[in-house]
Amino acid sequence: MKVIMYGVSDDERRHVQAWQDQHQDEIKLVTEPLTKETVALAAGFDGVSTKQVESLDEEVYQQLSAFGIKHLALRIVGYNIVDFDKAHAHGITTVSNVPAYSPRAIAENGLAVALNLLRKISVFQDRERRGDFTLPESLMSEEIYTKTVGVIGVGNIGSVSAQLYSALGARVLGYDPIYRANYEPYLTYTDLETVLKEADIITIHTPLDDSTREMLGAKEFALMKPGTIFINQARGGLVDTEAMIAALESGHLGGVGLDVLSSESEFFWKVIEDPAQLPADYQRLAKMPNAIVTPHSAYSTRKPLCVTW
Ligand code: NAD
Repeated sequence: MKVIMYGVSDDERRHVQAWQDQHQDEIKLVTEPLTKETVALAAGFDGVSTKQVESLDEEVYQQLSAFGIKHLALRIVGYNIVDFDKAHAHGITTVSNVPAYSPRAIAENGLAVALNLLRKISVFQDRERRGDFTLPESLMSEEIYTKTVGVIGVGNIGSVSAQLYSALGARVLGYDPIYRANYEPYLTYTDLETVLKEADIITIHTPLDDSTREMLGAKEFALMKPGTIFINQARGGLVDTEAMIAALESGHLGGVGLDVLSSESEFFWKVIEDPAQLPADYQRLAKMPNAIVTPHSAYSTRKPLCVTW
C-alpha cells in the first residue's frame, strides 16, 4: 500500500520511520498541507492523511477522487477543515479523525493560561519589559478556589478541564446538550446563560460545525461578568472574533487565552518575517498584554496516547 501524509511535523517523522522499518508499505511524507497546489503529489497513492489548520478546497476532493482515493484520514480531532457535502459529492466516501489525543494535554494548557491571566503574569512581564516593576492595587490577583469556572462543551477535553479546576477548589459549571452523570463529581450542569453570567473563567470545548459556528457573539460576551477570562482552545470559528476583541479592548473581558483563531491558517505553524503581514485580528491581540495567543499548540505534549483521568 502507498500512503501520502501531508502536514507532517518533525516529531511525526521518526514515528513514521519506526513504523516503516517494520512494514513494507510505502509512505511519502510532505511538510506542506493538503491544498489545491499540493494535491497533485497524491497521484498514484492509495491513501491520504493530513494534519493541518487550512480548510480543504473543493479541488482537493475532485483531484483525490480522480486519483481513485475515497478515504481521507485526518491526524487531528477537529474535522471542520472538511466540507462533508462537497467531499461526498466528489466521491470521498469516508473521513476519519483522531477520536482524542490526550485530552489532558489540552486541558492542562488551558489551565496554565487561565492561571497566568488570573495572576496577571503576562501583564506584569509586559510592564517589567518597559521598566515598570511597581505593584498597583489594580493588579491585585485572586485565588482560583474562590472562582467559578464555566465549561462549554463537556466532552473529552471539557470534562478533564472540569476535573483540573475542581481539584484546585474552583466551583465548576458545565453546559453541554449531552448530560453525563459521571462528570457530576467535578461540575454542576446548567444552561448556557447561567454559565455566561456566573463564571469568572469560561473555557469552550465544543466541535466547530454549523450548529456551533459563532455561538459566542456580542450578546454572549455582554452577558459575561466584567473581568471574565475567556479561554478558547477548540476552534476560532466558535466565536465572533470581532466581538471578542472588542470586549477585550473595552476592558469588559479580563483576559483571553487563545490557542485557535479564525485567521490561524494564515500564520499558525509558519514563520512570518514581516509582522505587518500578520492578520489584523492577531495584530490587535498582540497589543494587549492580557491576550495570550499560542499557535494551536495545546495538544503538543510528549505523552502516552489517550490518557484521561
Ligand atoms: P468531544 O466530542 O469529546 O466533546 C465535545 C463536546 O461538545 C461534546 O460533549 C458535545 O456534546 C459538546 N457540544 C456539542 N455542541 C455543543 C453546544 N452547542 N454547546 C455545548 N456543548 C456542545 O471533543 P473533544 O475531544 O473534547 O474536542 C473538542 C474540540 O477541541 C475539538 O472538536 C477540536 O476542535 C478541539 N481540539 C483542539 C486541540 C488543540 O490543540 N487546540 C486539540 C484537540 C481538539
